[in-house]
Amino acid sequence: MLITTLGTSHGSHTIPRNNTATLIETEGVSYLVDCGEPVSGTMRRMGKDFGALRALFVTHLHADHVGGLAQLTNMLKHARGEEQTVTWCLPSEGVERIRAYLEALYMAPELRPVTLELRGVDEGLCYEDERLRVTALPAGHMETQGEQYAEMGLPNRGQSFSYIVELEGKRIAFSGDLPRDFRYLGRLVAEPLDLLVMEMTHIRPEEVLPWLGERPVRKLLLTHIWDPWHGPGEDVLREMCFEHLRFPFTIARDGTEIEM
Ligand SMILES: [Zn+2]
Ligand SMILES: [Zn+2]
Repeated sequence: MLITTLGTSHGSHTIPRNNTATLIETEGVSYLVDCGEPVSGTMRRMGKDFGALRALFVTHLHADHVGGLAQLTNMLKHARGEEQTVTWCLPSEGVERIRAYLEALYMAPELRPVTLELRGVDEGLCYEDERLRVTALPAGHMETQGEQYAEMGLPNRGQSFSYIVELEGKRIAFSGDLPRDFRYLGRLVAEPLDLLVMEMTHIRPEEVLPWLGERPVRKLLLTHIWDPWHGPGEDVLREMCFEHLRFPFTIARDGTEIEM
């Protein structure tokens, strides 16, 4: 399988990095984890086939993780037609409002040229096909914000997820955004992982790396990289990784490829 970090920044685009999106390709099909802007433009430039897309897994409904959804849905016109089934897996708190958004943009799922399902994600198994099995775990990133919006009478519940992806006999975890402490990350790395794709904005490397270095992780891919680690700061982050990790790691840039 090939994993490509299409976008590796946090809540803002920076000069070297766009918002978060990661593509998994295996046996002629592909899956996305998050779809921050400009995901479909980047896929197009890199020659990625929209006809290969099977599913998207959105970790949470912040714009830097879901902002490219509308244009991605639009680009399904370059896919294979009705025989292609595509599943957008979204935190269940937002599914109906995202459906309404797509309808407002004249992209009702029922009228797309592919068979498109919007699926609500709650904790637990959220997707399974002949190649891939995906389980959602709570990530704890938006609890306070969820409460604030609920007090305003909005249906937001502050859902955020990490995803464990099982394919080709391997276990890969995508952390999504995290709180600064390791309560949720601890659940994610409790069982051995072949690859951990971890955000590096809301957690501090000097706190998390010594702890993570003792966990059963075979390889680490850092993405959603905070500003101090962009440009020259990347060397500082790399030094900290060398100091604390006994397993290999990659600090992702837009377009980084990992062959598994
Ligand atoms: Zn984010
Ligand atoms: Zn976020």
